[in-house]
Amino acid sequence: MSKLQANISGIIKSSVIDGPGNRMVIFFQECNLNCMYCHNSHTIGLCNLCGTCVHTCPSNSLKIDSKNKRIIHNENSCTRCDECLKVCPENSSPFYKQMSVEDIISEILEGKDFISGITVSGGEVMLHAPFLSLLFQEIRSNSELKHLSILIDSNGNIDQEKWNSLLPYIDGVMLDIKAYSANTHKKITGYSNEKILKSIHYLDNKSKLKELRFVLVPDYNNHEMEIREIAKLMKSVSPSVQKSLIKMRKHGIRKEFAHLIEPREEEIEYAKNIFSQAKLDILVI
Ligand code: SF4
Ligand code: SF4
Repeated sequence: MSKLQANISGIIKSSVIDGPGNRMVIFFQECNLNCMYCHNSHTIGLCNLCGTCVHTCPSNSLKIDSKNKRIIHNENSCTRCDECLKVCPENSSPFYKQMSVEDIISEILEGKDFISGITVSGGEVMLHAPFLSLLFQEIRSNSELKHLSILIDSNGNIDQEKWNSLLPYIDGVMLDIKAYSANTHKKITGYSNEKILKSIHYLDNKSKLKELRFVLVPDYNNHEMEIREIAKLMKSVSPSVQKSLIKMRKHGIRKEFAHLIEPREEEIEYAKNIFSQAKLDILVI
């Protein structure tokens, strides 16, 4: 198997909220957006061994291993207080690990009898497209795993050609649109949405778009024109694509974004009305 490795921030062995059925979810470190409401901001950046978390840890559970350029984490003394995640200046974490395709295949083999599929998520998982291609090929050529469904949970902010090598192996992609207007998108995520809009149409044309989600953020993307444009976009993709409206939640967001407000029930109803005027069947989450 390949020596290629990827930074993995975590693996959930069984989840019923990351696609249909019971799924193993593999989370990759690093993201190419910086959403204000990110609930897992410690998966955005990469560790540069600055040592801030090591000095902050109240139980001395972290050490810098300069030779191997990594942080050693003592799981026995760690109290799971999360102070290390809160102080990291890189939106990173001392916990992610390098794993090979072989390592991940072993994890999936261990849990295969309890799951119907796997979901790869992030961070932004498509930053690891060559690794994913090898992983998916291994799954599809393994007689014990090839029946598993494979879903990608992506922000879509990636060049179109990155999808090509993965499409033959996957069942579909779940993708978010944070705002239709490029300016609003930039305010929410720090980046434009040009590539994301292209990804949505490209994947839909290839019949690989499974879900399109819109997160409602009061004072940013909750005005009429913005929601109408999102409704138009959702209407333009195949009826079989699941469309979802997600209420922004403040749980776990960074303190610099404490000013964000969760949508009130009447704001959700207002958005739902616009979607229903566009004859869209939308799931509110
Ligand atoms: S995880 Fe963050 S705080 Fe800790 S050493 Fe790495 S960059 Fe520094
Ligand atoms: S979560 Fe663990 S490693 Fe991180 S600061 Fe707390 S005790 Fe230390």
